[in-house]
Amino acid sequence: MHLKSLTLRGFKSFASSTTLHLEPGITCVVGPNGSGKSNVVDALAWVMGEQGAKSLRGGKMEDVIFAGTSGRPALGRAEVVLTIDNADGALPIEYSEVTISRTMFRNGGSEYSINGQGCRLLDVQELLSDSGIGREMHVIVGQGQLDGVLAATPEGRRGFIEEAAGVLKHRKRKEKALRK
Ligand code: ATP
Ligand code: MG
Repeated sequence: MHLKSLTLRGFKSFASSTTLHLEPGITCVVGPNGSGKSNVVDALAWVMGEQGAKSLRGGKMEDVIFAGTSGRPALGRAEVVLTIDNADGALPIEYSEVTISRTMFRNGGSEYSINGQGCRLLDVQELLSDSGIGREMHVIVGQGQLDGVLAATPEGRRGFIEEAAGVLKHRKRKEKALRK
């Protein structure tokens, strides 16, 4: 299984329809500051069902819709289409290629589809959940996060390890209990 293509329409800085074709292996997106590299990563998280505006580096969900520039008016909707090569059947669906799309309208409505069939967010999440991608399965390391790890104090570094090991929440609970 691998990601085959990603199309952005009206998503953040991508006002015109833009398609990235992805090959198996590592893909690098290069470009000057502010050219939209991180927006591409946001689009990938968004089409897989991301619900947090903050994870998408915005204040509210409709911040993903192209907001307009001096030369181009704002748009009323954002759409992202992700095509996944499923020749190996990693996704539990009888298609060798799976296309997931998400559309959001400025008036608030949101739509999902799988292979052109309208569906619920839950259907997208369930489709992806056994495959190593989708909600909380894939890992997106944000800009500056690596610097954060390298520059961390010993206590901070311990925090990262505890979070990865899943003990941080227990320590937080213990600290809270001791304070009472
Ligand atoms: P850097 O190299 O600094 O990390 P980048 O290539 O990752 O840059 P992005 O963060 O992807 O850049 O893109 C930032 C640009 O996207 C900004 O110019 C910002 O104005 C624009 N942008 C973000 N949201 C929208 C939106 N809703 N409508 C229009 N433009 C947007
Ligand atoms: Mg960036």
